[in-house]
Amino acid sequence: MAPERRRELQDERVRRLVADVFARPVPLLRRKLEDAGVDDPRAIGGVDDLARVPLTVKQDLRDSEAATPPWGEYRFTDPRECVRLGTSTGTTGTPTITVWTRHDLWIEYEAAARTWWRMGHRPGMIATHAHPAYLYAGGMMLQSAYEYFGFLTVWVPPPDTDEIAEQGLRMWTRVRPDIPFMGFSTGRFMEVAAARGIDPAQAGLEFRVPPGFGLGKGMPLMTAGAECFAYLGGGCGRSPGAHLAEDWAVVQAVDPTTGREVPDGEWGDLVVTTLDRDNGLLRYDLEEAAAIVREPCPCGETTIRGMWGGRYKDLLHVQGTRIMLAELEGALRSVEELTSPSIEYQVVRPREDHAPLHLRVEAPDPSDQLRQRVRAAIADATGVTAEVELLARGALPRSGYKAVRVVDT
Ligand SMILES: [Zn+2]
Repeated sequence: MAPERRRELQDERVRRLVADVFARPVPLLRRKLEDAGVDDPRAIGGVDDLARVPLTVKQDLRDSEAATPPWGEYRFTDPRECVRLGTSTGTTGTPTITVWTRHDLWIEYEAAARTWWRMGHRPGMIATHAHPAYLYAGGMMLQSAYEYFGFLTVWVPPPDTDEIAEQGLRMWTRVRPDIPFMGFSTGRFMEVAAARGIDPAQAGLEFRVPPGFGLGKGMPLMTAGAECFAYLGGGCGRSPGAHLAEDWAVVQAVDPTTGREVPDGEWGDLVVTTLDRDNGLLRYDLEEAAAIVREPCPCGETTIRGMWGGRYKDLLHVQGTRIMLAELEGALRSVEELTSPSIEYQVVRPREDHAPLHLRVEAPDPSDQLRQRVRAAIADATGVTAEVELLARGALPRSGYKAVRVVDT
């Protein structure tokens, strides 16, 4: 779709969203609009007027659910019109509840399909994943989006224990996925494969860099979280960043003090307004860093591209700079002895700005010489002075999904 035509569609969908906030009404969002002097939905004519709409953050949703349990005052539909419920992981307080109607799920499936098609995947391929499920809706979302796309999916359990990891590995040696497993727990599977004498290649396991990673700054902006838009975009692979599903979202990099967008290519707060959903979010600030590029892409897609710079709560503020955990992990990966069969480390969240960054890293063969090389790799990649503690393999806790890398002590 030509960018001008798509802008018309966005404007029309923004107007409908704001009209719904007043008509249903959606009290949390209506109050925010009225406090900003918008007391008539016609005052918001489209995307250009979104700068007038106050931002909403996760804590607003949490507070609303606490004040008016269990749903809060930010839903557009009766929850009983929805067909699926999921919660956030709750790592930062009481988990918030997300509900999806059939239509909302369909938007996610279609947006996910674009991403996989862009990556060269096609219906009829065998895919696999190890996402957790039940109240955490991520596994169900991925599984159903895979099925909608037409993959045959081998859903193995998250490798919480060595025994469970082995079940998944054995299954992959029987039904080998066409698309190798790629996830937060790849390292866990590699580690258990080594311990149980399973050849990772027989299980189709390999470390692969997804399309678009390593191009330009940050990472491709692929998601705005399950509570907002899980499959927001997909890595272009040719140019830096991810092409964004603009027909279903207005994605902005915003200066939170002014509410206005920062210049193209600069980091701002990732702010997403979902479009055409039954349960939408208006100017949702994910408290993550994003940069937007609007120049035409040589790949032929017409949508804007987004880069992701990390969650603010995951940024390490140390020695007068901010570093992303991914940068630190990249530095560790450059030291080969630390990477086989998996890389395991913990960072102590910095408290004093000038103190060295404290890291614990597992190494098969700890030595003072190796410790110095790790320190040098970190200094090279981030400019930060680190105090490195090398530990024997198996000393740090393991996780079947997202490992806890930043600890308080
Ligand atoms: Zn492109």
